[in-house]
Amino acid sequence: MGEFDLIARIREAASGNGNVVLGIGDDCAILKMTPGYELLVTTDMLMDGRHFVLGQATPEQIGRKALGVNLSDIAAMAGMPVAAVVAVALPRNDADQIADGLQAGIQEMASRFGVSLVGGDTNAWDGPLVISITVIGEAKPGRAVRRSGAKPGDAIFVTGPLGGSLLCRHLDVRPRIREAQLLVSAANVHAMIDISDGLLSDLSHILEESGRLGAILDSSEIPIHADAYEMSTVDGGAPLDHALNDGEDFELLFTASFGDYERLLAVAPALRRIGEVIDTPNLLIRDTDGRKSPIIPSGFDHLR
Ligand code: ADP
Ligand code: MG
Repeated sequence: MGEFDLIARIREAASGNGNVVLGIGDDCAILKMTPGYELLVTTDMLMDGRHFVLGQATPEQIGRKALGVNLSDIAAMAGMPVAAVVAVALPRNDADQIADGLQAGIQEMASRFGVSLVGGDTNAWDGPLVISITVIGEAKPGRAVRRSGAKPGDAIFVTGPLGGSLLCRHLDVRPRIREAQLLVSAANVHAMIDISDGLLSDLSHILEESGRLGAILDSSEIPIHADAYEMSTVDGGAPLDHALNDGEDFELLFTASFGDYERLLAVAPALRRIGEVIDTPNLLIRDTDGRKSPIIPSGFDHLR
């Protein structure tokens, strides 16, 4: 089977939503966006040996994750996803089978979130599997939630339990698109990010972008996932450290006024208020006796 048979099958499986004027098959796709809305664009690349290990993860899982991480970025802005394009470098010796699996995973995730697969680029080589997806989304003008809107005195919230995702949850990304829509309709969300690098790292991005702010986190309020406990029996690390520093949870981390807690909780039952934003650039953790001590993020950094 050749490249063009593969593309023909992908084209067959892709279903266009109302935004697609022209999908797979021409030199470009044509999209019609909601009039007056702003366009969101995001891209993420996954590489065998770095973000997954082919053999431990199936092509279907990799396809779902590749689209899922991009949808999570759209969720982090409280946007709505519209369309996706996929670029793949397939290992030559098993290209057909891997391509089919990837496609099935991508298509499943795309259908679940009403996203249209509108194009891509298919290559094979003697190297490992690499897949890059770009997602186009939209938001009402000025309504996309940025990282930069946190204010001193804000409460800090997270939408679900954290840590230990490497055990297997990292392959099962659940983009919080719907949750983000509910949160922004319930209250004014000041700043938001999805947790990909780790709670502390990603919180630091919000604090830095919002003008060298800091935070106090309450250790007893950090929601710790069951996987973080299991992970600690494997590597001896404290479950709390896993919750603070493990990446790829893909929960939403955001700030809003303290007074909006009840309103937000009403639409996000797993929501936890984990701390507050302060006007000095320090990251502190407060124990149950009220003692504060500095903490340093040790989350993932590709260039370190
Ligand atoms: P071109 O050479 O003009 O870039 P291609 O032959 O690479 O076109 O692709 C033909 C069509 O198939 C294009 O619409 C392209 O977007 C689409 N396509 C190629 N690979 C993929 C893929 N992996 N997933 C989805 N669409 C794809
Ligand atoms: Mg062309």
